[in-house]
Amino acid sequence: MHNRVELLQADITSLEVDAIVNAANNALLGGGGVDGAIHRAAGPQLLEACRLIGGCPTGEARITPGFNLPSKFVIHTVGPVWRGGENKEDSLLESCYLESLKLAVKYNCNSIAFPNISTGVYGFPKERAAEIAIQSVIRFLRTSPLPKNVIFVCFDHENAELYRMLLGKTAF
Ligand code: ADP
Repeated sequence: MHNRVELLQADITSLEVDAIVNAANNALLGGGGVDGAIHRAAGPQLLEACRLIGGCPTGEARITPGFNLPSKFVIHTVGPVWRGGENKEDSLLESCYLESLKLAVKYNCNSIAFPNISTGVYGFPKERAAEIAIQSVIRFLRTSPLPKNVIFVCFDHENAELYRMLLGKTAF
């Protein structure tokens, strides 16, 4: 199990994996942060594909091709906006990871890379988000041979340190 999960401090748009996950918004029409970076790197066809999908509820996921990206697919998931923690934020964030993984399996993805969903503009506390991300992924991998590899992409230093610490003490 340990060798199926890794941490990378990188720009997610540079990764040659089967699927990268986008921390999108409900409209799926692009935005700032990782969403903006993914749309810029994928090219205008991605926005067109997202427009055809017509939006995505919080906690769910949708898939498109990667277009100009080195990744085959983009899995768009909508994380919860942090509103104090009593508004299903934890279960919605968990659902983002699980639904994205289910789609990855459906499309036969061997490798998938996740950004730190909801921890930017959406304001989810980073340590709490990291614990949920790691636990959800490990629980899923215990019962599924695919995806073979899951990469947690930590763009900012704080998340990279948190994931290093949490993955180090996680029982796989
Ligand atoms: P959200 O709205 O879900 O909070 P953001 O895009 O604001 O989404 O932030 C989510 C995470 O994505 C943050 O931890 C941020 O550091 C990270 N991020 C921003 N740009 C990139 C990128 N190019 N590659 C990977 N992660 C990124």
